[in-house]
Amino acid sequence: MVVAGGGTAGAVAAIASARQGAKTALIEAKGYPGGTVVEGGTALHSYFNLWRAFPGVEKRQVVKGIAQEIIDRLMLVGGTTGHGEMATRYDYDSVCTAIDTELYKLVVFEMLAEAGVHIFTNTLVAGAVKKGKSIEGVITQSRSGREYFRARCFVDCTAYGDLSAYAGAEFVELNDHPVCNSMGIGNVNIEKLFAYLTRRNAVGDLAYGLRSGKEDQIIRIGSESGYIIRNKLPDEFVEGIVSLGSGLITTTVHDNYLMFIKVNYRMPVSPTNRDEAAKAELIIRRNQFKTLELFRKHLPGCENAFIARTSPTLNIRRGRTITCDYDIALADVIEARHFDDDIMVYGFHDSAPRYQIKNGGTYGVPYKALRVKGIDNLLAAGMLITSDFQAHMSTRNTVCCMGQGEAAGTAAALCSAKKFSTRDLPYQALRDALIRNNVYLEA
Ligand SMILES: Cc1cc2nc3c(=O)[nH]c(=O)nc-3n(C[C@H](O)[C@H](O)[C@H](O)COP(=O)(O)OP(=O)(O)OC[C@H]3O[C@@H](n4cnc5c(N)ncnc54)[C@H](O)[C@@H]3O)c2cc1C
Repeated sequence: MVVAGGGTAGAVAAIASARQGAKTALIEAKGYPGGTVVEGGTALHSYFNLWRAFPGVEKRQVVKGIAQEIIDRLMLVGGTTGHGEMATRYDYDSVCTAIDTELYKLVVFEMLAEAGVHIFTNTLVAGAVKKGKSIEGVITQSRSGREYFRARCFVDCTAYGDLSAYAGAEFVELNDHPVCNSMGIGNVNIEKLFAYLTRRNAVGDLAYGLRSGKEDQIIRIGSESGYIIRNKLPDEFVEGIVSLGSGLITTTVHDNYLMFIKVNYRMPVSPTNRDEAAKAELIIRRNQFKTLELFRKHLPGCENAFIARTSPTLNIRRGRTITCDYDIALADVIEARHFDDDIMVYGFHDSAPRYQIKNGGTYGVPYKALRVKGIDNLLAAGMLITSDFQAHMSTRNTVCCMGQGEAAGTAAALCSAKKFSTRDLPYQALRDALIRNNVYLEA
């Protein structure tokens, strides 16, 4: 079994597949696993239902399995805040789960190795060879040269949908989100910053949890640029960060560190365009430095801050959207619909409170939403499914991608073992395997 892309969804898919006993190759372009979860996302949305926004609704952890195992492992090495509850804006999310990005890479790398995954880092999936309606193998490029990986089943977790596109799958490039490079800013006094924002009545997001080994510390702080802070913080700061596409909401696992300051940029075309992507990389890096200067000048606590981390490449919110047997619709999400082939359930929407899952409940992600249309042995998991903008604002989030990854990896391993096409796999066999591995399902 081959998983293309070892990011948020792909690393989980590979662990799940290897644990099912399948000989599993994970092909990852960078030198480490994690993808956008260690480069873009502020917090991991969301392991729980939105219970706090709906009085009387019970708190439920709705994503477990490998996604929770990663948090448990990170907890052992001081690499997460745990599931801290939101102190404000709990009509958006009830919890804040933040991670140490560097420890996440290490912990997940170790989990892959322990599961027996054959890990090919710094290796690019560069093509696919088809036989009829199936993929026979993928072509890769690395410093060891051009290679060919044959397998019975494949999972595309490249975010860009590279493998699906090379295999001739249908896709669209919607270019409906800005790209981003988020940076970590070191040498900040979080309490001083918080006191300043409080004095200015400019605190929007706030959550407390585990930070640098101490409980009840600020782990999420900030305000949506131009939303809460306009007329509250200096005009030069507000106008500056709005025009730079920067955000002021951040999380942290450590003292003196703001882990994710997002700097967004709207590309004129899809980020699969190499030349426009190269221009964007430079523009965003300039804007990161300008953002840092605004923070230093205007935000008490950030006077001596410096850029401690950036992503190696720009982060996308969408590349290609791959056509699958089912396309999750916004109504499925907000009406809390479930399917007769649910592989996970999920309860978070990134546009909340405008869109929330009905009554603080969950919707189901069906297996058919992961099956790439027209190809018999290819599944897709992660940000590359779901074409509707607002439905995608739910399914694209990290914890949903991990859940999809666990299901896709498990299904691909079962298909490989029994020589099934992805459409012939009996749902009950998949469901049983997921439940055995502590995946939470309803109905
Ligand atoms: C700026 C930003 C902020 C976000 N904020 C949040 C947030 O606060 N909370 C939240 O839950 N979600 C957030 N999201 C969404 C979420 O982080 C992503 O949608 C999710 O992580 C995507 O996971 P994925 O597995 O689809 O892709 P990725 O995690 O990006 O994984 C794709 C992997 O494939 C590899 N790859 C790509 N092409 C190839 C190839 N041809 N060959 C080999 N490897 C390849 C990449 O190197 C990468 O490791 C944010 C996203 C962005 C961009």
